[in-house]
Amino acid sequence: MAQSNTPGTAKGFTVGGRAYTFVDHTFDVVVVGAGGAGLRAVVGASEAGLRTACITKVFPTRSHTVAAQGGISASLGNMGPDDWRWHMYDTVKGSDWLGDQDAIEYLCKNAPAAVYELEHWGVPFSRTEEGKIYQRPFGGMTTNYGEGRAQRTCAAADRTGHAILHTLYGQSLRYSAEFFVEYFAIDLIMEDGACRGVVALCMDDGTVHRFRAHKTILATGGYGRAYFSCTSAHTCTGDGNAMVLRAGLPLQDMEFVQFHPTGIYGAGCLITEGSRGEGGYLTNSEGERFMERYAPSAKDLASRDVVSRAMTMEIREGRGVGKSKDHIFLHLDHLDPKILHERLPGISESAKIFAGVDVTREPIPVLPTVHYNMGGIPTNFHGEVLTKVGGDPDCVVPGLMAVGEAACVSVHGANRLGSNSLIDLVVFGRASGARCAETIEPNQRHSELPKNAGENSLARLDRFRHASGGTPVAELRLSMQRTMQNNCAVFRTGEVLEEGHELIHKVWAGTEDAKVTDRSLIWNTDLIEALEYDNLIVQAVVTMDSAVNRKESRGAHAREDFPDRDDTEWMKHTLAFVDDTARSVAIDYRPVHTYTMSNEIEYIAPKARVY
Ligand SMILES: Cc1cc2nc3c(=O)[nH]c(=O)nc-3n(C[C@H](O)[C@H](O)[C@H](O)COP(=O)(O)OP(=O)(O)OC[C@H]3O[C@@H](n4cnc5c(N)ncnc54)[C@H](O)[C@@H]3O)c2cc1C
Repeated sequence: MAQSNTPGTAKGFTVGGRAYTFVDHTFDVVVVGAGGAGLRAVVGASEAGLRTACITKVFPTRSHTVAAQGGISASLGNMGPDDWRWHMYDTVKGSDWLGDQDAIEYLCKNAPAAVYELEHWGVPFSRTEEGKIYQRPFGGMTTNYGEGRAQRTCAAADRTGHAILHTLYGQSLRYSAEFFVEYFAIDLIMEDGACRGVVALCMDDGTVHRFRAHKTILATGGYGRAYFSCTSAHTCTGDGNAMVLRAGLPLQDMEFVQFHPTGIYGAGCLITEGSRGEGGYLTNSEGERFMERYAPSAKDLASRDVVSRAMTMEIREGRGVGKSKDHIFLHLDHLDPKILHERLPGISESAKIFAGVDVTREPIPVLPTVHYNMGGIPTNFHGEVLTKVGGDPDCVVPGLMAVGEAACVSVHGANRLGSNSLIDLVVFGRASGARCAETIEPNQRHSELPKNAGENSLARLDRFRHASGGTPVAELRLSMQRTMQNNCAVFRTGEVLEEGHELIHKVWAGTEDAKVTDRSLIWNTDLIEALEYDNLIVQAVVTMDSAVNRKESRGAHAREDFPDRDDTEWMKHTLAFVDDTARSVAIDYRPVHTYTMSNEIEYIAPKARVY
């Protein structure tokens, strides 16, 4: 076969009695996803002269990264003293000692350079009087190893993600990367345990494409949509994570789901933590600033799990606000309207549209809402995907990489600190591009794909396209979302989780009875939603089963029946494998990396939790 990326037509396949033909492509690197992580990887790989493709189901600048508000962390020290070691200490502590310390060191050390790179590429950061990048305080960010409060979160008003994503898209067009926009990646092409590429459906004309590559980088984002109320976009269905499960590879630490304390009640839209960074505070029905009781020193800027749990406690104990006493108030009405206008214009607008509230006069009704998935595809700090083979927990899967929210490096461990995701995207997006440049020889030959490459993906596509059961996909999706919201949220007990396990496995089994009504291949949103549901349900199942299995409380995983962190038994990563045919989950473990990359900082030993 020709060693070029010129599309050619391969042999057709007949599945389910219907004929399909692949359009074949060959690239050095294929990146799936065009959010912050995917675009940074595209820049890196294409800059190095590698033939690079980027496949994305939405136009790049519509990726969820565009919605990030508060900012991106880096110890620039523009607004007071700072040091990457303090950033590392906070991140290890925030992760509740589940983060891999070598990866955290890599993140914090490389963060300032990554932010300056964005600045030089044109991100319009807000500025201090002296013209430096403006930095705001964020939850869990301290100076001097926990002594003072750091101002570490670089912001472009409250539209930081928007500014970064648009700038990165501009940069990604500088080299010769090819974009396949509104292509839906279905599954990985695997051969003898190695990844050889990916199969994707062009949603516009219904053609099916086979991409062959030396490296496939998954940058497909989180899976917030497994829950009923979340801050993330409808596209956040964790498609890459599900592809990995179907390839027989594990997902890591899926029980750790971050709830953001301040989603707008009813709508789920995010009110950034930056609003509390600027002086906002929470009150209960008695008008009390209750965070002073739960976290006397950090108060409203305690880490997200602490604030979310405190809010849930207040509501459970009858001190919620509103008619049903089921939410909490966030006050910004005491702040100078000029500051609100300058630093938080976006959330003022969201509060108006989604809660009918004028933030200069009234509090915003808020509720903890699913916001981020700490779990995902296990990788090392080069972005290479790992699996456990025999006794080796860090076995690299040839040809496969993952970055961004889809990946679990793991720098966030059991809980991510605010503003640590955007920096994760650019630092590890860059690292993965660099790794491709290091490991792929220019003009390296591609071996032939196996004869049946992609046939499984076609079979799955065809099965859903012609699914003629009795349950509409929307119904299955709603059952899944309600189960996750009711049985796998902020408060967890053995009983609630066991019930959730029964319910979610029942929904999974119900997938057999799925019904799709549109049989065409052109802009078939019914079919795409079915594929997305099928991706979500496996992640919901492993999230629930990993949560049932972990009998301790750590970070975002808080169990009332096991209230303490248990470092002897549980300072280890969960690995969850799925058998899609038997509809069963197998759990295994990987040790946490309790060592650093260099000797510039010592391993940070576990401490008791004091907030
Ligand atoms: C409302 C909100 C505010 C946030 N604010 C902050 C903040 O201030 N600071 C911070 O650090 N973090 C913040 N976060 C978290 C952070 O924004 C996300 O974790 C991050 O943007 C994820 O980026 P990503 O590149 O991994 O994925 P995304 O930006 O979600 O992009 C995923 C990409 O994958 C593509 N894709 C997915 N599936 C497929 C498929 N099957 N085929 C083809 N393409 C596919 C999509 O088209 C998209 O391009 C926020 C998150 C939300 C939801």
